[in-house]
Amino acid sequence: MRPKVAFFDFASCEGCQLQVVNLEEKILDLIDIVEVVSFREAMKEHSDQYDIAFVEGSIMRPMDEERLKKIRMNAKVLVALGACACIGGVNKLRNKWSVDEVLKEVYGDAPVKGNEYFDVFPTKALNEVVAVDAYIPGCPIDRNEFSKIVTSIAMGRKPRLPSYPVCVECKKNENICVFELGQSCLGPVTRAGCNAICPTNGEGCDGCRGFLEDLRVNAMKDVLRKYNVSLDVMMKRFNLYNFKKEGY
Ligand code: SF4
Ligand code: SF4
Ligand code: SF4
Repeated sequence: MRPKVAFFDFASCEGCQLQVVNLEEKILDLIDIVEVVSFREAMKEHSDQYDIAFVEGSIMRPMDEERLKKIRMNAKVLVALGACACIGGVNKLRNKWSVDEVLKEVYGDAPVKGNEYFDVFPTKALNEVVAVDAYIPGCPIDRNEFSKIVTSIAMGRKPRLPSYPVCVECKKNENICVFELGQSCLGPVTRAGCNAICPTNGEGCDGCRGFLEDLRVNAMKDVLRKYNVSLDVMMKRFNLYNFKKEGY
């Protein structure tokens, strides 16, 4: 029996689901091992009978929390899809300000108070609301990694993400380190798996795949001192995908 799979989205650009839609011929391999029963971006049918839920996006409202908890109850396995779901991503930047300040900035004096759609709280990643069984990081996700993780979940295995930094992939690609070119980069503290796509294309890493568990802040500070990069510049990079109110 193929496990039944459903896709859901919360606050997001839906770019991660689009990566799945764009799997093209590889999607046929996946259809051999799972049965997709709900996927708003790709099909009209919907079913609440599913085994694996892929959830994209961040949680911003009480109504989102309720819906996510229902999805959690229905699913045997819940997978966070993309940076917004795994770590809050760019949506967490909003948490720099109070909810009232953000509503005022966006809607001015429009009457949004009391409307359930505008009843928002500071942005949360999925694991701040429910238990998450597996993560597919990145903004957007990597299609090959998605295929590998789906295969491993469908076979009842726990998917594993790389536990080494982006710098390892960057060195394998024989790139010149962007610090040498006067830029900054979060490669030393960010989980690999994207084949260091940004540094390989001449841009510093912004940490969209989230930080390694063993966040070596002191080693990162040594690199900054060596290349004379200010903490302010780095904090802008840190905050883009990994904003924390209390800092690092
Ligand atoms: S992680 Fe990035 S690509 Fe995916 S939904 Fe969020 S903003 Fe879009
Ligand atoms: S460019 Fe970034 S990822 Fe590559 S080696 Fe330098 S710090 Fe590491
Ligand atoms: S290099 Fe960094 S920012 Fe770019 S895709 Fe990889 S983890 Fe994300």
